[in-house]
Amino acid sequence: MVSIVERGKPRPGSSLEVVGEEFFALTGAVGLPDLFERLKQALPINAIATQWPGSVGLEWAAAFKPLEQRWAINRSEVEAALRRSALARGIVVAPADNNLQVHNHDGLIVDATGRAAAVARRKGARLLPIADLIAISCNGRMDRPAMPIIEAVPDGWWFAVGEADHTVVTYFTDAVGAAHIRSPVDLAARLASTELLVRSIELNLDGTLSRSSAVSSYLEPGAGAGWAAVGDALLARDPLTSYGLTFAVQSALHLADAYTAKGFIHDIYLQPIDVAIARYRIARQRLYLAGTAAFDRPFWHAQAFLASQGSSVPASSETGTT
Ligand SMILES: Cc1cc2nc3c(=O)[nH]c(=O)nc-3n(C[C@H](O)[C@H](O)[C@H](O)COP(=O)(O)OP(=O)(O)OC[C@H]3O[C@@H](n4cnc5c(N)ncnc54)[C@H](O)[C@@H]3O)c2cc1C
Repeated sequence: MVSIVERGKPRPGSSLEVVGEEFFALTGAVGLPDLFERLKQALPINAIATQWPGSVGLEWAAAFKPLEQRWAINRSEVEAALRRSALARGIVVAPADNNLQVHNHDGLIVDATGRAAAVARRKGARLLPIADLIAISCNGRMDRPAMPIIEAVPDGWWFAVGEADHTVVTYFTDAVGAAHIRSPVDLAARLASTELLVRSIELNLDGTLSRSSAVSSYLEPGAGAGWAAVGDALLARDPLTSYGLTFAVQSALHLADAYTAKGFIHDIYLQPIDVAIARYRIARQRLYLAGTAAFDRPFWHAQAFLASQGSSVPASSETGTT
């Protein structure tokens, strides 16, 4: 029996996330060949306007690949479709409450609790932090909706994506920067000092802010006898990569490969995963190093620091609205 642990209901809201062709190829491989047709909303993105320091390392992040066709998709819709597909295959989706028998579970237990890695940590695995990042989002409107914008600034970076009247504008910063942003007006004050965004974005000052953790971390080990982590629980990538959703599906496919007639062989599962984690850590560091030279600010130095040690990342991600 395979049990996937996560809350079991789609996230509310209409958050938009960017994926490329690879995502739909992989969802086809996990048994959802028509996912693209099923989505009510998939906004085509032919190019992303980017203002990022330096030219080293950009080719790694999907967001900077000029020729790749991408779409902004509704996150909750995708989640619901994937969940239906898992249930249809007889996979159990179980909440990770304290009653779940993670130690005496009969079969494979899959930790899909995202950055919380709730099951893995009960199994004794450690979440190793790569970098802390907080996402603060607000709705607004954008003059050029066909072209999302990424812009680096001294204390963080911005990402804006959406339709003319429904644009999601997110500021990624550290805990120090986030502490002073409590309302859309505070966020608008930060936006005023951008170069690219300020020209085409208007925030909805009557709206609400939502905060979520965008902490980057990986799990050690990522699997063991009778259990495995997938997606963000295994490796939480920086949203800058636009690759978190793709990796979540990719890790599920690796898991299927390791689920043999003899049962789940965690060493087979972890081989490609370990390579992915090592590549990711180096590539991410290169990207942020460019910012240390351009801005010489604590945010960029801390992001570029390649944490090699660590024992814990806060169990609950910081989320909420103000
Ligand atoms: C601001 C932001 C923007 C992003 N933009 C993009 C993008 O443009 N493109 C992209 O590909 N990726 C993006 N990502 C990354 C992407 O969202 C993640 O990689 C992806 O959601 C990982 O899926 P997951 O199922 O592993 O984890 P999650 O989506 O986090 O799902 C985990 C689920 O487990 C639940 N849970 C947590 N703890 C427990 C518990 N103890 N018991 C039960 N359930 C629990 C959570 O409530 C949640 O429903 C972004 C991330 C952030 C933060």
